[in-house]
Amino acid sequence: MPVKVSRRDSTSHTTSASRGRGRIYSERWDLSHLAKDPVQRFEALVGEIESKVARFESARAQLSPTMATSTFHPLLTLSEDIAAASSRISAYAYLWFSENTKDLAARSFKTTVEVRLTALQNRLVFFDLWWQSVDEDNASRLMAGTGTLRYHLETIRRFKPHTLSEPEEKIVNIKNITGRSAIHSLYDVVTNAFTFTLTISGKRKTMTREELTAYLRHAQGWLREAAYRELYRVYADQHDLLGEIYKTLVNDWKAENLQLRRFISPIASRNLGNDIPDEAVASLLKVCQKNAGIFQEYFRIKARLCKIKAMNRYHIYAPHRTEQKSYRYQDAVRMVLEAYRGFSPQLAELAERVVHERHIDARTRPGKIGGAYCYSVIPSMTPYVLLNFTGEARDIATMAHELGHAVHGMLAARHSIFTFHSTLPLAETASVFGERILSDALMNQERDKKVKQGLLLNQLDDIYATVLRQAYFVQFENQAHEMIAQGATVKDLAKTYLTEVKRQLGKGIKVPEEFQWEWLTIPHIFASPFYCYAYSFGNLLVLALYRMYQKEGAAFVPKYMDLLSTGGSEAPQSILAKVGVNMADEDFWQSGFDTIREMVNQLELTL
Ligand SMILES: [Zn+2]
Repeated sequence: MPVKVSRRDSTSHTTSASRGRGRIYSERWDLSHLAKDPVQRFEALVGEIESKVARFESARAQLSPTMATSTFHPLLTLSEDIAAASSRISAYAYLWFSENTKDLAARSFKTTVEVRLTALQNRLVFFDLWWQSVDEDNASRLMAGTGTLRYHLETIRRFKPHTLSEPEEKIVNIKNITGRSAIHSLYDVVTNAFTFTLTISGKRKTMTREELTAYLRHAQGWLREAAYRELYRVYADQHDLLGEIYKTLVNDWKAENLQLRRFISPIASRNLGNDIPDEAVASLLKVCQKNAGIFQEYFRIKARLCKIKAMNRYHIYAPHRTEQKSYRYQDAVRMVLEAYRGFSPQLAELAERVVHERHIDARTRPGKIGGAYCYSVIPSMTPYVLLNFTGEARDIATMAHELGHAVHGMLAARHSIFTFHSTLPLAETASVFGERILSDALMNQERDKKVKQGLLLNQLDDIYATVLRQAYFVQFENQAHEMIAQGATVKDLAKTYLTEVKRQLGKGIKVPEEFQWEWLTIPHIFASPFYCYAYSFGNLLVLALYRMYQKEGAAFVPKYMDLLSTGGSEAPQSILAKVGVNMADEDFWQSGFDTIREMVNQLELTL
């Protein structure tokens, strides 16, 4: 049992949030909106969920394709209630853990919650299997009048043509534990144990991958180079083992998705999960390849700005040497809200609610989880945001990003708990758009040429990493899956990878041989094949949408708000149709690159 804690007393900071101009924003969040004393009352809370699960189970006998809608619809409401109650308590556990990952009480509570809720979740799986088995006519009869739940119900059924019989699905699940999942865990076990050594000011320093990664963006070129060499030295040492793991995962993917589930290509299974047509993904990837030249030019300009004599793959993330401005948290909040207000006062109001209701944990502290996130718990509740604010310019961009996620969830609050979260391909829309709004506002205010350069360089580095680089990962995976089916070795794969990187970066950027092992270092390529194009999709989408905004001005705003308020209640294709986007159209994706081209031109003008 989790230990009784009285953490709320010790962490509560009641800042007087005076209204108006001089408002001071609290820097710690208040988790009591999620649950009151959930640790002490844990058994009671889980007991309530458990009794609902039992009621749901007892309805199993009534499930039949010909059942009345008046029996079916209350079951859906019951499953929403179960999901909402579970979401509150998991959110509490995760947020508390995030505050201090070393807190033993928080850790043990999180594990307890996970174990208990997973067990309850498993008792509900029968519903999805049954729902998939219902014939088309009865399914549409039962879905009539389910409103915003409809897309959720359709999503379960979307996999029907690729679902096996119940006993076969069970066998796949059982064998996955000792098959695919076990092989994938080996990758984690092996690579998490890697240590890296760099010699810095005469001292040998041994570090984790995370620590090494910081040196890839170090101000000193020789250190960036040394860090990359060390990274690939360690992975290359194990290329045989990691290559075997990869080949096994790819062969398993083929056996399951192509042979058993009858998808037409390895990537098609991922596309169905994202609910994006195969053609749309193909045109996205094609347009990315066609526009690689824009980034090649960007890196040429960057080399001049950052005084890099010969551009090399080692140096593409070199930082810009502007003097580092530092920002106060209160000012940062005002900057973000001001920028949001310039786009839409409603957007700013929603974002302010997150801060005002004390749903944000701002500062970095020892033990606090790294990075940043937004947690949209249930539709009716203001989302929670975690930051690691240290006062750097990048932290303000992160704040604009996470508050973007939050307003996305808030605008979609009228939907069900199953459909208010955006679907994966659109999940980064409001967040990245929020960053664009902020950086545009900053660019317009900024008079200092050097600061402007820094802003553009930061953005273009990010766009390169999230758009082009990710698209090339997936392009490589397409090739790798085909090559492995033809019996390729890990060395063949590495050779192909290097050729692709060289093609991507062009003649002006030298790519050292050790980059042939880069793909071994990308966990997504092992864990979730073809996942990475979702990043290219989301980021390029926002650039294209932002271009529309620049052209249409105020007329774009209501369309955009409408898009966000759909949440995840419709297919990505039909949500984007609301702003007149056809995602299979290459011209649309091209317009995203046109924005990037303009940014590069803008940068060139500052030379
Ligand atoms: Zn995000």
